[in-house]
Amino acid sequence: MKGIQTTRPLLSVEVFPPKTPEGVTTLLDELEQLKRFPLEYVSVTYGAGGANQDRSLTLTRLILEELDLPVMPHFTCVGSSRVVILEFLRAMESMGITRILALRGDPPQDQTNYQPAADAFRYASDLVTFLRAHSTMQIAVAAYPEKHPQAETLETDMTHLRGKVDAGACKIITQLFYDNSRYLEFVARARRQGITIPIIPGLLPLIQHQQIEKFVKLSQASIPPALMKIIAQTEGNDLAMKTAGMDFARRQIRELLAAGVPGIHFYTLNKSEIALQVLDEFFP
Ligand SMILES: Cc1cc2nc3c(=O)[nH]c(=O)nc-3n(C[C@H](O)[C@H](O)[C@H](O)COP(=O)(O)OP(=O)(O)OC[C@H]3O[C@@H](n4cnc5c(N)ncnc54)[C@H](O)[C@@H]3O)c2cc1C
Repeated sequence: MKGIQTTRPLLSVEVFPPKTPEGVTTLLDELEQLKRFPLEYVSVTYGAGGANQDRSLTLTRLILEELDLPVMPHFTCVGSSRVVILEFLRAMESMGITRILALRGDPPQDQTNYQPAADAFRYASDLVTFLRAHSTMQIAVAAYPEKHPQAETLETDMTHLRGKVDAGACKIITQLFYDNSRYLEFVARARRQGITIPIIPGLLPLIQHQQIEKFVKLSQASIPPALMKIIAQTEGNDLAMKTAGMDFARRQIRELLAAGVPGIHFYTLNKSEIALQVLDEFFP
């Protein structure tokens, strides 16, 4: 499809910092399995409002030092002062990190008394501007093929995405989606808006009935008829849902690669098993 790059696609995988030291050990083992793929980087999520910052930093360091894999830490600016942002940035730079995913984040839901710092940034574009002024890191940003839940329209959301790109982002990673046409239309609209940087599709296979409500609520992703059929036909049969959900993800990736996407960003949920089975045929 016109507007999508056609160079060799890159693969990145996303993980989140586990709560316990045992969880970290397990995750490092899971990631060790994924080393057989040509990973561009592992991306490490960051708790909004700075929650769990230490866990993100520790995990980033361990992936770098113990697995020798490149890392792209996420950073959410909601509620963080400029001083805190600079501290995080310098900590990352001192580890040799060269890329960062700049996000706004959302205020922590469990903190009813949450008070953002007086000089906190309002939008991710402000964070990108700040990072660009203080660092030479490559900056990636998030985008939502089916619109960010708080955006009024697809058009205003795209204008705000353009703001992040103009502020200095060099890569876009999308929210998960299950209907490839939504992603492809999104890329076409972005190109018409003058956005020329790579737009990497974010993929999360739907393999359990229990996940559906959570994932769809989080992403507001539409479920295409073929996936709807899988969900209905596998009701009450977990193994059948898992097998069919992975098949569906493979079909999605096959189609996206055929359309010439510049890469795949895989949401692993800290489990290598699904990633290994789904990605094997594409990244031998
Ligand atoms: C790939 C990916 C990774 C993520 N990783 C994490 C993570 O590690 N930790 C975490 O907590 N969350 C994460 N998120 C979720 C993200 O933090 C939320 O979706 C958050 O609500 C929006 O962040 P953003 O950076 O897209 O915000 P923004 O780009 O600031 O957009 C947020 C909303 O504000 C609107 N907006 C932007 N600029 C303006 C403006 N100038 N005027 C008016 N409206 C404006 C946008 O249209 C949008 O509706 C991730 C999301 C994605 C897609």
